[in-house]
Amino acid sequence: MKKKLLAFALCIGAYAALFAYSVHSDQKTDTSEMTDVSRLMPVKIKQTVKGQEGETLIDTVKEANRKNIKISIAGAQHSMGGHTYYEDGIVLDMTGYNKILSFDQEKKTIRVQSGATWNDIRNT
Ligand SMILES: Cc1cc2nc3c(=O)[nH]c(=O)nc-3n(C[C@H](O)[C@H](O)[C@H](O)COP(=O)(O)OP(=O)(O)OC[C@H]3O[C@@H](n4cnc5c(N)ncnc54)[C@H](O)[C@@H]3O)c2cc1C
Repeated sequence: MKKKLLAFALCIGAYAALFAYSVHSDQKTDTSEMTDVSRLMPVKIKQTVKGQEGETLIDTVKEANRKNIKISIAGAQHSMGGHTYYEDGIVLDMTGYNKILSFDQEKKTIRVQSGATWNDIRNT
């Protein structure tokens, strides 16, 4: 009887340990996975490149073209549906490409790099 109880306790212990591990591992963020704010369709990507300089972006596009790798572009990643990213593609993270190039208060015009958000503009 004692042996049966011990085996039962061992099974419960093993199950609890596996359950705790699975819950914990679900919370890990896989950096090679990309998703948008909806988290509906995570996609395994090859690499993320944060473009702060135009040259980085140009080089990345050229290299991807040479290697026949698809590129997707990410801004604040606030779109929904998960359709933006290509599997095994390169993601160009544009959030660092956000300089304010010129601002004319009189003409009410502003030129910005294409990763600029309203927040970047408001903080100018
Ligand atoms: C809670 C919530 C509320 C929202 N409210 C509104 C609202 O009130 N009004 C409204 O209009 N929208 C709203 N949206 C929608 C959201 O603002 C748009 O989906 C917008 O495109 C998100 O911009 P993003 O920079 O996050 O783009 P991302 O999600 O990163 O990308 C969206 C698309 O734009 C492309 N892209 C991104 N950056 C660039 C770039 N620099 N150059 C070229 N292509 C680029 C991407 O490839 C992708 O196809 C809301 C979304 C959420 C989740």
